[in-house]
Amino acid sequence: MSQLIDGKLISAQVKEQVAKEVVSLKQQGISVGLAVVLVGDDPASKIYVGNKHRTCEALGIASHQYLLAASTTQQELLELVSQLNQDPAVNGILVQLPLPKHIDETTILNAIDPSKDVDAFHPVNVGKIMIGNFDLLPCTPAGIMDLIDATGVEISGKRCVVVGRSNIVGKPMAMLLLHENGTVTVCHSRTKNLQQICRRADILVAAVGKAKFVTADMVKPGAAVIDVGMNRDEAGKLCGDVDFEAVEPVAGYITPVPGGVGPMTIAMLMQNTLMAAKLQNG
Ligand code: NDP
Repeated sequence: MSQLIDGKLISAQVKEQVAKEVVSLKQQGISVGLAVVLVGDDPASKIYVGNKHRTCEALGIASHQYLLAASTTQQELLELVSQLNQDPAVNGILVQLPLPKHIDETTILNAIDPSKDVDAFHPVNVGKIMIGNFDLLPCTPAGIMDLIDATGVEISGKRCVVVGRSNIVGKPMAMLLLHENGTVTVCHSRTKNLQQICRRADILVAAVGKAKFVTADMVKPGAAVIDVGMNRDEAGKLCGDVDFEAVEPVAGYITPVPGGVGPMTIAMLMQNTLMAAKLQNG
């Protein structure tokens, strides 16, 4: 039986610390603000944006919400980003993805001032992560590092396997593990012998987007298993990329879904916003 990694508890601790620092900055006359831009009315995106707004309010961070019509043009969005880049009340800018098809995501993300890029998707921040000299980290991988840290499992020298190579999860995840001296393997849809590779991992991160993809025979007994996936099972219930019931008796540590990586992502967004405010105010 494995130990559950409680993302709810750990994220609550992160948020508590952020709230304290926000108060301390306010006492120095510095207020912290996050602008979240949503284009269109994708139901999942609306929920994410609503959660971010509520979390900001709970932590004393000013939340600037921009809920734009699906018909907003790329030029209009670029103008808003430019205005937010110059607004001193806005320390962090997040443009909720996905954007409607007529807007080029890369063009928009590249227009965000890197010092306000709290998602850390701008090429400048991606490059900084690559060389290990970063201020802002992508929220999900950063949250996972805190979850691994909470287990007490040392990363240095361990075999780490990341399944998934997306720009927002898999690749930065692999870099962060590498910076901590893990021996990192990145797997993807063309990987051969995935089962054997995963089974060698001391730390296994699943970011595939396929329900119950990681089965018990892919997990080394005692491994730390981090489940990034957010999927729906046949019954429509939220589930991860890991077959939790089957893997839990084999793993040493495991994150649940929900209550694992998800809550950390939003806590890290708050931490990044705080960090951006500190950097912008010297
Ligand atoms: P992407 O779809 O961008 O990437 C999925 C990755 O999985 C790709 O690299 C793909 O390989 C790989 N993959 C797909 N099929 C296989 C396979 N059969 N074997 C091995 N690898 C495979 O997803 P994201 O990285 O954006 O997200 C992954 C999951 O994490 C999703 O469920 C998403 O909802 C969730 N998520 C959760 C967050 C949270 O806060 N909890 C935050 C962000 C994402 P290839 O590159 O070859 O196509």
